[in-house]
Order: sequence, then C-alpha cells, then structure tokens
Amino acid sequence: MLIDSHAHLDSERYTDDREAMLGRAWAAGVGTVLSIGIGEGPAEMHQALDVCRQFNGRPNLPRLYASAGIYPHSTTEADDSAFAKLEALLAEPEVIACGEIGLDYYHEGAPRDVQKRGLIRQLEIAAARKRPVLIHCRPKDGETDAWDDLFLILEQHWTTDLGGIMHCFGGGWEQARRSLDIGFLVSFAGNLTYPKAQPLRDVAARMPLDGILVETDAPWLAPAPNRGERNEPAWVAQTARFLAELLGKEPDVIFAETTRNFHRLFPVEKVVGN
Ligand SMILES: [Zn+2]
Repeated sequence: MLIDSHAHLDSERYTDDREAMLGRAWAAGVGTVLSIGIGEGPAEMHQALDVCRQFNGRPNLPRLYASAGIYPHSTTEADDSAFAKLEALLAEPEVIACGEIGLDYYHEGAPRDVQKRGLIRQLEIAAARKRPVLIHCRPKDGETDAWDDLFLILEQHWTTDLGGIMHCFGGGWEQARRSLDIGFLVSFAGNLTYPKAQPLRDVAARMPLDGILVETDAPWLAPAPNRGERNEPAWVAQTARFLAELLGKEPDVIFAETTRNFHRLFPVEKVVGN
C-alpha cells in the first residue's frame, strides 16, 4: 500500500464526490492519507479531523489521519483563541501532526516577522503535544531566504527528536541534506513531474530511501499527465512511480519505503484504533 502524506481533503472542491474520490484512492493502492487541517484559516482548522471522523471505519477507503495548523499567510489571524484551538486539536488521537506551518516569502501576505512568530509559537505547541511538524517553506524565486530563516528557527525552537516533514519539497540539495540532518523526511509532490523541475529531479535522485515521502498536496499540483486538473490522493501513485524511476528502483520498493518512513515518524498504529 501507498501513503499520501499530504492532501487537503476538506477542500470544498471535493464537496460533491469526497467518498468516491477516497474510493478511487483505495482502488489505486493508497492505504492511508494524512488530511491537512489548515482550511482557509484558523476558523477551519478542525475540518480535516471532521473528514477523518466521517469516513474512518467505512470499507474500501484509505485510513485517514489529520493535522492541524496555521498556514504561514494565515498567521495574521493567529490570536490566542486560534492557538488554544490548535492545542486542543493536537490532543485528539487522530490529529497526528502539526501543520502545515512554516515560512512563505514567495506569495504576498503575512509580514515575515508575523510568520516567524506564528511558526515559533506553533513549534512550541507541537512539542508540548509531542506531534511532528509539517513544514511549508517557499523562498523568493532564486533565493534561499525562507530556508535560511526556517533552519535558524528550527535550530532554536525545535529541540525535540519528534521530527517532521518538509512538505512539497522545492529546495536544493543543501536544504534536503540539512533537513535529513535534523531528522526530517523530505516529501515530493506532483511538481516533481513538471518539465521545468529538472533541478528538483536532480535532488530527488540523490535522496536516501529512508528520507523520502510522497504526497499529492491535493487538490493542487496534479502530477503529469493530469497537470492542471483537480488533484486527488489516487494520483500519488503517479508521483511515486516517477520518483522510483529517478532513484532507479522498482515502484514497489518506493511504495514500501515511503510507507515505512511514514510509520517511523508517526507510530500511529499503536495509539489510534480504526
Ligand atoms: Zn498543503
């Protein structure tokens, strides 16, 4: 079985066919999906957990887990009640990760100092709740500004051995290596298949098998040949096969390794029944 380590299952783009969409994932060999709880802002942070509770236990669907977190550009809305909500959600057994949180200097939005403060506060909350973090990091084009700030913050404020995931990785080898050095997994999304992504493919080809995950980031970033369409967890298989070819491995090897890596980071089988 395969794991989609990052999908926004609460997106309203699945309102009409969410169960059928999850059924297609199961049919494609996706046994587990981590549903990302950021919504359109802190007021919707709980929606991923709601989706888990709605569908877990139904036959022939992937097992679902949730995260909760405040997206970098939503940190302007991160008041004490938002942080309290995050703390409460991370106490739920199905909410196995805090994210996606991080720094985004690419898009216009929350000022950098607000993003940094929001990230630091969430790292503290995640550490107290013993939850790994899902990191979104996007620098300005051609720069490493967000990465440099991120690693500085993690060094100072993420002193646990809980680890985390660099979600939808788009950095260079230097950033991948530093991520592995601090015990993070590096997750590849459908953009790995895009024509302009050769530098990313070069990084992926160097990755150790015990450091990788695959994800869809659905409903965004559909892999080739579905680029531009609404993405969905079933299609994580395309990215996994693509990554397998870059690494010179059989797809089954990549399916097994990414699944093992996910369960090493989240030993959830022990704590969450379904
Ligand atoms: Zn995402």
